[in-house]
Amino acid sequence: MKEINSKDFEKEVIGGGKVALDFYSTECPPCEALAPKFESVAELFGNHVKFLKIFRQENRELAEKLGVKSSPTVLFFDNGKEVGKRFSGGIKRSDLISGMGHLLSAKEIERLKSNIMPVVSEYDVIILGAGPGGLAAGLYLCQARINTVLVDVGLPGGQVASTHQVSNYPGFIDPVPGYLLSHNMSEQTKNCGTEYKVAVDVTKVDLHKKEIIIDEYETIRAKKIIIATGASPNLLNIPGEKEYKGQGISYCATCDAKYYNDKEVVVIGGGNSAIEEADFISKFAKKVTIVHQFDKLQANMTAQEKAFANPRIDFVFESEPRSFIKNDYKMIVEIEHLPDGKRKQIETDGVFIFIGMKPNIGLFANQLQLDQWGYIKTDEDMRTSLPDVFAVGDAVSKKYRQITTAVADGTIAAIAVAKELDV
Ligand SMILES: Cc1cc2nc3c(=O)[nH]c(=O)nc-3n(C[C@H](O)[C@H](O)[C@H](O)COP(=O)(O)OP(=O)(O)OC[C@H]3O[C@@H](n4cnc5c(N)ncnc54)[C@H](O)[C@@H]3O)c2cc1C
Repeated sequence: MKEINSKDFEKEVIGGGKVALDFYSTECPPCEALAPKFESVAELFGNHVKFLKIFRQENRELAEKLGVKSSPTVLFFDNGKEVGKRFSGGIKRSDLISGMGHLLSAKEIERLKSNIMPVVSEYDVIILGAGPGGLAAGLYLCQARINTVLVDVGLPGGQVASTHQVSNYPGFIDPVPGYLLSHNMSEQTKNCGTEYKVAVDVTKVDLHKKEIIIDEYETIRAKKIIIATGASPNLLNIPGEKEYKGQGISYCATCDAKYYNDKEVVVIGGGNSAIEEADFISKFAKKVTIVHQFDKLQANMTAQEKAFANPRIDFVFESEPRSFIKNDYKMIVEIEHLPDGKRKQIETDGVFIFIGMKPNIGLFANQLQLDQWGYIKTDEDMRTSLPDVFAVGDAVSKKYRQITTAVADGTIAAIAVAKELDV
């Protein structure tokens, strides 16, 4: 692996050969997360591919010329031509290896991969998931001098990292951007000394053995595991949804309804959460239009009666959204009336989608007792049905899922774990 500058680019990259080039920056947590992976993939493929690093801040002109807009960004070149997909942000080891696929034959890659030496590491505690619940647990465990590793399939921060603004987390007088709150939480826990293995592929979780496998070759064992993998809102997966998430499209009324004072809002869904949240949003918005796919609501009768009696709530039945478009500050929701296939557009200020949530526990759900909705059952110390396995945050069976409640769960689990490890 070698560090280069702009002036070496012609010779080292354009001059020929197979190259993986990492544009990195300092004070960049995703760059720190990538560095050991880049190094270990370089060790594996380094005889066939040149692994180069370039400091983006000092080579800004070249970065701009290549259209590199964020750090880290990894590009692949074959004989001076860029090939394959660029990767940026939370880059995984498997992304780098997939990049090798544009430079080497599949057979060669398999041959080189067979040289990977398995690694086993041991900790007192593994925390799976570095959202607010996992980060709070990591902080408390670290301060109790317990050897802890935080493992996340993405970058630290969880759902908060992609939340536009948070105005209900105590300690901030003004609303704080979600990325900043999660950055601060993550740096606090990291600075304390908790080890991070982030943007990794978690390929196996054995809760009985308290053992997980990451990136297919590293086994991590511990005395205890805290599950903090959160939950994800079900998505509509239609055009515009991803693009405008957090910028006109929301999945959390408690968090975002207050931004729609005297405005108009569309709510998608017809179950309990959609109807109850629509009622809550109507305390702020002057008009709430509920778009539901069936000809009747699915919510319980009490919630339905309240919604039907609410003069601020309108209903559009037997209709499904097909796309979201942004027009200056307005959102346009294109809906299809299912019986006749006719489409129309609703102009609104914001959209709330409530079509269910699911806990991120697919890898190990069958090892634990769950509630009827598939969330992990815990006791008051956040212990699950398995000894030495705790669960916190949005993945847990509970009524209210917020940053504060995830942090509270993480605190409780960490204190309980610390007490047990002390015995
Ligand atoms: C758009 C939006 C806005 C919100 N706004 C607010 C707000 O303003 N105020 C508020 O209090 N709450 C808000 N919430 C809710 C809040 O974000 C959550 O309650 C909180 O983040 C839950 O924390 P958590 O640690 O349980 O999980 P998460 O934040 O979901 O973090 C879970 C972490 O686990 C990782 N993970 C998932 N699967 C695995 C795996 N198999 N192995 C390892 N890691 C894994 C994920 O990558 C993620 O980093 C909002 C939620 C959304 C979706």
